[in-house]
Amino acid sequence: MTERPVLDFEFGGRLCLDFTWTLRFRAVHPTEMLVGPRDLSAWLRRAGLPASAATAERDLERARSLREAVYRAASAMTEGHRIDANDREILNRIAAAAPPAPSLGPDGRLRLVVPEGREITAALAAIARDAIELLAAGDGRLRRCEGPRCSLLFQDGSRPGTRRWCSTNRCGNRVNTRSYRARRKEGPDDA
Ligand SMILES: [Zn+2]
Repeated sequence: MTERPVLDFEFGGRLCLDFTWTLRFRAVHPTEMLVGPRDLSAWLRRAGLPASAATAERDLERARSLREAVYRAASAMTEGHRIDANDREILNRIAAAAPPAPSLGPDGRLRLVVPEGREITAALAAIARDAIELLAAGDGRLRRCEGPRCSLLFQDGSRPGTRRWCSTNRCGNRVNTRSYRARRKEGPDDA
């Protein structure tokens, strides 16, 4: 596995699935975006979740464990399989912690409140809870991108429910232009 942050983080709109995008190119060249604890903190902040400057290696291990459980469970759903009991246990255990509490600030804006030292636990709980809600919904809107060699999972939020790509810009265009690109070697931009 390559451990080199070659891309900036991407966000597609569903917290738990966006989190699975931090291991990129799963199908062709798995590339870890969360190389160190600071990467985890950076991702959590970008996602609007609490993070701590004191994020440790064990927090990173917990985060990756959650991420892979989400990915396996969501993949199982898209393939019509049962979710592995071990993955359910990971999701349920991490979700059992208190997520960040919403609080109304003096400026009238939302703030997330977490007891000091519980930032990562609360942030991971929010991700795990989001995953459980998504998986339990079972509404057929959880999909795997149809792009060639793409491995990204997404939630189809389109009104007709016909979304096929992680991103039109990346995989949609690639497939649409395949007729004249078919014989060209695909670059490392597969996700
Ligand atoms: Zn894709």
